[in-house]
Amino acid sequence: MSNQISKNVTGSIVLKNVNLLGQQVTDILLTDGVISQIGPNLSGNQQVDGTGCVALPGLVDLHTHLREPGREDAETVLSGSRAAAKGGFTCVHAMANTNPVADTAGVVEQVWRLGQDAGLVDVRPVGAVTKNLEGTALAELGAMADSAAQVRVFSDDGKCVHDPALMRRALEYVKAFDGVVAQHAQEPRLTDGAQMNEGELSGKLGLAGWPAVAEEAIIARDVLLAEHVGSRLHVCHLSTAGSVEIIRWAKSRGINVTAEVTPHHLFFTDEVVSSYDPIYKVNPPLRTAKDVQAVRDGLADGTIDIVATDHAPHPAEDKDCEWSAAAFGMTGLESALAIVNATMVQTGKLTWGQVAQVMSINPAKIGRVTDQGQPLEVGSPANIVLFNPTVELKVDPNQSESGSRNTPYRELTLPGQVVATFFHGQPTVLAGQVVSY
Ligand SMILES: [Zn+2]
Repeated sequence: MSNQISKNVTGSIVLKNVNLLGQQVTDILLTDGVISQIGPNLSGNQQVDGTGCVALPGLVDLHTHLREPGREDAETVLSGSRAAAKGGFTCVHAMANTNPVADTAGVVEQVWRLGQDAGLVDVRPVGAVTKNLEGTALAELGAMADSAAQVRVFSDDGKCVHDPALMRRALEYVKAFDGVVAQHAQEPRLTDGAQMNEGELSGKLGLAGWPAVAEEAIIARDVLLAEHVGSRLHVCHLSTAGSVEIIRWAKSRGINVTAEVTPHHLFFTDEVVSSYDPIYKVNPPLRTAKDVQAVRDGLADGTIDIVATDHAPHPAEDKDCEWSAAAFGMTGLESALAIVNATMVQTGKLTWGQVAQVMSINPAKIGRVTDQGQPLEVGSPANIVLFNPTVELKVDPNQSESGSRNTPYRELTLPGQVVATFFHGQPTVLAGQVVSY
């Protein structure tokens, strides 16, 4: 059976022979942007062959850098939306460290409208916690929450809200509109000039070390602050075994905290830094094999709630230089699902149903996005990804939809391909390619 589909579908689309959450082969009928039927032998105006594909709810990323406004040479809302759709996402949260910073209703509404215009994924702006990310005065949190963008996630990501009094006030403030503060946990005084994970290897390579305690000390402080004020805390990109232990302890106390891990922290150890290739330079740094094991185990047992990409596009001139001068960050939207397949599914640590939890349902809940991350059942919005986990694909950065090429998986062969993505019933990706309207 071949895919017979045109753009701007007005009638119904049937997804044939898909493996629903890896549990049951069936057909799914999409009508008017909603899942209207699930069962065998369905027909629709148009059809997509899903043979061999797992069907998951459209992925939701809580941590994406889209760079617009200000660094359109690295990424735009449109190019980032295309990369997101190609990776199976139907919703991304755009981080606030743009230029100007997304610290007012005006800027978050601008980003939100750019997302609407691109029309490929739901772009949910993240609001800055502090004015201009300076860590000295709270940004206009209420105005951003009340804006058309309806911001619920606030973060100074890229920087840590290191002043405990300011962090406390932010946690108190967001309670009024059920918001959450997403902390980039990095004690700046412990990471001055840091270049890679602190350990034997950093000594050997002569690169300034970034100790695990710089992350763990902030997380420990913040879970206690969240408990003290009775607010909701989210911890970005957990990278150390100690951080997993602190979150596990906090949850056992009933503290309202959630945590994320990135695909690259699930996949790489700091050994790759031995090449001095700045493609592996990232914040927080890649850690040891023991840490990788701990974040995988934490994701498997629910201590870590979600996978978030921390997609951080940079143009070549910011990455193709010596290690100490290179920018921190790597792209990740297009490869996220294949990496989770490689590290968590093929290793038997997560089922596809659990992948749906950590990459769609849970991040939508944390971001309070009500029409995303819904179970694949009749009546749910038709946000769906079809992923073939058995296709082996070599990563070619020049095939990326992102405005930047800094993928750390270049030249690697990864397991799985996003075959199709549907956003409110409309195909945004077919046969592995973004649909151009
Ligand atoms: Zn960060």
